[in-house]
Amino acid sequence: MSHGVKSIGIIGAGQMGGGITQVAATAGIDAVVYDSSTDQLKKCEALHQKLLNRAVEKERMTQAEADAALGRISYANSLDALSGSDWVVEAIIEDLGIKSDLFKKLAAMLPNDNVVLASNTSSISITALAASAGDAAHRVVGMHFFNPVPIMKLVEVIKGIQTSDDVVDRTVALAEAMGKTPLKANDRAGFVSNRVLMPLINEAFYAWMEGVAEPEAIDGIMKLGCNHPMGPLRLADFIGLDTCEHIMNVLHRELGSDKYAPCPLLKQLVSAGRLGDKTKRGVYDYSN
Ligand code: NAD
Repeated sequence: MSHGVKSIGIIGAGQMGGGITQVAATAGIDAVVYDSSTDQLKKCEALHQKLLNRAVEKERMTQAEADAALGRISYANSLDALSGSDWVVEAIIEDLGIKSDLFKKLAAMLPNDNVVLASNTSSISITALAASAGDAAHRVVGMHFFNPVPIMKLVEVIKGIQTSDDVVDRTVALAEAMGKTPLKANDRAGFVSNRVLMPLINEAFYAWMEGVAEPEAIDGIMKLGCNHPMGPLRLADFIGLDTCEHIMNVLHRELGSDKYAPCPLLKQLVSAGRLGDKTKRGVYDYSN
C-alpha cells in the first residue's frame, strides 16, 4: 500500500520531533516542523545540520543527499504553517490535556478526510486523543518512534478504538518508507514498549533510593547481567526524567495499580530540574 504523503507536519521540535523531521526529510518527504519555542526550533535546525554533516563525513550519505534533505525541512513558529500537510505527527509534551487541545485544533485546521493525525505519545490513550478530534477520530493513530529516531528501527503503530483499518495500513506503509520496522499494538496504557520498560526504569530508581546500589552499579549490573545496551538509569536520563514521570503517571492512573506509582526519587529529581541529557544533569552529570 502507498502512504501517499508529500508533505508531513511535525509538532514539537524536541528530541523526538526533531528526529522524526530528519528521517522524513531523508526519506524524500517535505517536512514542516513547528514548536511553540523559537529557541527549540533554532536548536533543532542546528542539530539537523550537525547530524546530516556527520552522516556525510561517515559516508552514510552524499553531500547532495544531505543538502536535499535539509532543503526539504521548514522550521515554523506557527501551527498554521502545517495547514498544507497531508500527514501530521504530534510530538509535544506528554500531557493528555495539552495534547487533546492540540488534536481538537488539528481536526478543525485539517478537515480533509485523507489527512492522518498521528501521535508519537509514549503512553497516552490514542482513543482519548481521537475522541478530542471529533469527526476526525477515525484518522487519529499512534505512530510511536524510538529515541534516537534516526537510529532506532521500531515504530509501534497503535490503533485506537475509532482508528480505521485503512489509517493503520497507511501508517505501516509510511513507517516502512521511512526505513522503519512497524509493529502493531492495541491501545492500552503504555502500549507494549512502555508498559514493560517504564516499570523497569521506575524500579531502578527505587533500588537507588533504597540504597540497594549506586547508579553506576545498577546500570552496570543490568548491562552485563541482562545484556541491555544501556542501564535503566542511563536510559532514563536519555529519555528525559520528566517524560518518564509523565508515563508512570499515565500507567498509574489508567491501570489503577499502585505498582505503577512513580518513584519519589524520580519525582524529586524532576522537581529539581534534573531532567537528564536535555538539562545536562539527571541521574548523572553531563556538564563536561
Ligand atoms: P522534548 O521535551 O524533547 O520536546 C517536546 C517539545 O514540544 C519541546 O520542544 C516543547 O517546546 C514543545 N511543545 C510543548 N508543548 C507544545 C505545544 N503545545 N505546541 C507546540 N510545541 C510544544 O520531548 P520529547 O522527548 O521529544 O517527547 C515528545 C513526545 O514524544 C512525548 O509525547 C513523549 O512521550 C514521546 N516520546 C518520547 C521518547 C523519548 O525517548 N524521549 C520516545 C518516544 C516517544
